Amino acid sequence: MSAALVPQPAQAGHWLRLIADNAGMLLALYDAKSLRCLFANQAYAKAFGFDEQSVLGLSFAEVIGAAAAQLIQPYVERLLHERLPVHYERELLPVDAARRWTWVSLIPQLDADGEVALCLVQLSDSSPRDLSDIAALESEARLEKFMRASVEGIVFHRAGLITDVNPPLCQLLGYGLQELIGRTALDFVSPEERAKVSAVMSAGHELSYESAMLHRDGHRIAVEFIVRTLVRKGERLRMTIVRDISERLAAQARIHYLAHHDDLTGLLNRSAFMEQVQALIYAAAQAPHQLALLFIDLDNFKRVNDSLGHLEGDKVLKTVAERISECLRATDLVARFGGDEFVILLGDVQSRSDVLVVLMALLAVVEVPVTADGCVLTVTPSIGVAMYPAHGARAEDLIQHADMAMYLAKAKGRASYCFYEPSQADSAYAELVLESQLVQAIERNEFVLYFQPQVAAATGALVGAEALLRWRHPQRGLLGPDAFIDVAERHRLMLDLGAWVMRAAAEQARAWHQSGIAPVRIAVNLSRMEFRLDGFAELVAKILSDVGVPGAWLELELTERMLMDEIASAPATLAALRALGLTVSVDDFGTGYTSLAHLTRLPLDKLKIDQSFVAPLPADKGAAAIVRAVIQMASGLGLQVSAEGVRSVAQRDLLLEWGCDGLQGEMIGEPMSAQAFEHWLVQRS
Ligand code: C2E
Ligand code: MG
Ligand code: MG
Repeated sequence: MSAALVPQPAQAGHWLRLIADNAGMLLALYDAKSLRCLFANQAYAKAFGFDEQSVLGLSFAEVIGAAAAQLIQPYVERLLHERLPVHYERELLPVDAARRWTWVSLIPQLDADGEVALCLVQLSDSSPRDLSDIAALESEARLEKFMRASVEGIVFHRAGLITDVNPPLCQLLGYGLQELIGRTALDFVSPEERAKVSAVMSAGHELSYESAMLHRDGHRIAVEFIVRTLVRKGERLRMTIVRDISERLAAQARIHYLAHHDDLTGLLNRSAFMEQVQALIYAAAQAPHQLALLFIDLDNFKRVNDSLGHLEGDKVLKTVAERISECLRATDLVARFGGDEFVILLGDVQSRSDVLVVLMALLAVVEVPVTADGCVLTVTPSIGVAMYPAHGARAEDLIQHADMAMYLAKAKGRASYCFYEPSQADSAYAELVLESQLVQAIERNEFVLYFQPQVAAATGALVGAEALLRWRHPQRGLLGPDAFIDVAERHRLMLDLGAWVMRAAAEQARAWHQSGIAPVRIAVNLSRMEFRLDGFAELVAKILSDVGVPGAWLELELTERMLMDEIASAPATLAALRALGLTVSVDDFGTGYTSLAHLTRLPLDKLKIDQSFVAPLPADKGAAAIVRAVIQMASGLGLQVSAEGVRSVAQRDLLLEWGCDGLQGEMIGEPMSAQAFEHWLVQRS
C-alpha cells in the first residue's frame, strides 16, 4: 500500500462518512447506555427530519419519536440482555418519503468486559434483495419450526391468495393442504365477516381481532386472527394465526347465560328480566305502543311440592315454563321470579284483546295434572295483568300492579286472570296481603295460644282455661284474632289454623295435667269452617290420639250461628264429639237469636253468656233481666252456664246470686301466655 493511501485520522473520518452515506441503507450508531446518537449517515438523519450534525447527541426517542421508541423498546432490551443482533420489521414514516416497510437490524458492539457499549442501527427497505441473508435464513428457519410446532392454525397469503397453511389449519377448516393452496383466503371467511377481513387485509396492519371462518361442511367457526407481515423464502407475505375461540366464546356465553337465567327452567331470572323490561319500556315510549305485564302464580303448586317433594315440584315448574314459552312470540319476555311465580312481558300490544288472546292460550295450555296422594291435582295459573303506560311507567310499578291483580284473580278462583284497575280497593289488596302472610305464618310457626282462666263462681276455684289465638306478626307485633280470623275464614286457611290450635291446646292440657300445675279442661274456639267439615269429629279424635290426651281434657266452643247454619248435621256431629268425652259449649250466647226450641234438641253441655250482656251490669236493668233469664233457662235445660267479660266484684256477686256456675273475665284474669298463666296460678295460691 502506498504511503499516500494510508489514512490519516481526518481523512479516515471523511472516508467513513463517504462510505456510510453511500451504503444504500440508513445507518446510525448509538451509545448503548445513554441511547444517544453518536453517528448517523445522511439518509438516517434525513429520514427523521435532522441532518448529520443536528442528530448527534439526541436520544433514541427524540430521533424516532416517543411512540416508535415505545414500540421498539422490547427489541432494544433484548439486544442489551442477549448481546446478540436483533432483527425486526417495522413500518417507517420518513419525513421526506412515503410510508414503507423497513427491516431493522440492531447490532451490538461489546466492550472489553463483554457488555454492550455501542449499538449499530441499520434500516433497509423490506425487499428480498435488501435483506441480509443471515437475517432471512434465521427468520425462515424459525418460522418453519414455528409452523410445524404450532397447535394453532397458520395461513400465509400473498395479495389475498393462500400460499401455505399448516396442518392444524387444514384440520380446523376440514380441507387438505392442496385444496387450500392457491385459493382466495376470503372464501374461507364467514360471509358476514368478509368486508371487515378484506379491509384489514388491504390496510396491511398488524393486529389481532375476532372473526369467523367457514368449515368445509358449512358451519361457522369463531376465530381470532393474529395478523403479521413477514418475509418468507424471500417473499413478503402476510401471516395469519387462526385461533379457534369457539370454546372461549362458549364459556363466556355460558357465564353470561348463568348470570341471566333461572337454573331450573332456563327462563330469564329476575334481574335480567328487569333490565330488559326497562329497555322495552323505553322503546315503547318512543314508538309509542303499549306493553302488557303478566304476573303468574300457580294454583296448587304448594300442595304438589309438599306431598310429592321438590323433585316432582321441579318437574312441574319445568313443564309450566315450556308451556308458557309455547304461547309467546320470540320478542316477548318470560322470567321465573323464584318459587312458582312467572312474569311475562308482551311487547307491542295494540289493545287489550291482544292480551286476551295470550291469556286464553296460557289458561288453555298451562294446566298440568299431577297425581298426589292418590288424587289428581291440576296445577293451573292465576294471572294478573298490568298495562304500560296505563298502569305504570316503571317496571317496578307494573310488576307491583300485576301482582296485585294476580291476587284478585286468585280470589276469583283458580285458573283465572284479572286486569289491574286503579280503582281496585286498597282494602281488597290489604286482605290479600294478609292472606299470603297468614299462609306463611302457619309455615313459620308464628302463632301462639294465650289462656284465660275460668273459675267456679261459688268457690273461685280454677275449673278451666280458654285458649285464645294470637299471631306474633313479624312487623305488626302480637295480633289478636279479630285482626285475621275473618280473612283466614274466607280463604279456607282456618282449617289448617284450627287444627293447629286444637293440637296446641291438647299438648298444653297434657303438659299441665302431667306436671299437675293446672289439671283443667282447656276450651278451644271453633270456626264455622271446621264445624262444617265432613268428618270433623274424626279429625278431633285423631288429634286427641296423636297427642295422647282423653277428650275430657278439652272443651269446644261453638257459636249459636254455627249451630243454626249446620242445623241438619249439628246433632250428629255434637253427639260424636261428646262421645269422645269433649264438653260442648255455646259461646257468645244471646247474640244469635237461637230458637230455644232448637237448643233443647241439641246435645250440649254449657252456655256462655256473651260479655255484651255482662258489661252493663249491675246498672242496666234490661241486661240484668236477660242475664237472669238465661241463667234460669239454662238450669232448666240442665245446662251449665258461665259468664264472659266479668270485670268487677259487683258483677261477680250478682252473677253468683243468680246461680251462674262459671266466671271468666278481667276481674279473674286476662288472657296470658302459658308461662304467665302458670305464674298467675302460683301467685293466686
Ligand atoms: P270469645 O271466644 O268470646 O273469647 C273471649 C274474648 O273476650 C277474648 O278476646 C278475650 O280476650 C275477651 N275477654 C275476655 N274477658 C274480657 C274482659 O273482661 N274484658 C274485655 N274487654 N274482653 C275480655 P280475643 O282473645 O280477642 O278473642 C276474640 C274472639 O276470637 C274470641 O271470642 C273467639 O270468638 C275468637 N277466637 C279466639 N281464638 C280463636 C281460635 O283459636 N279459633 C277460632 N275459631 N276463634 C278464636
Ligand atoms: Mg270463646
Ligand atoms: Mg265469647
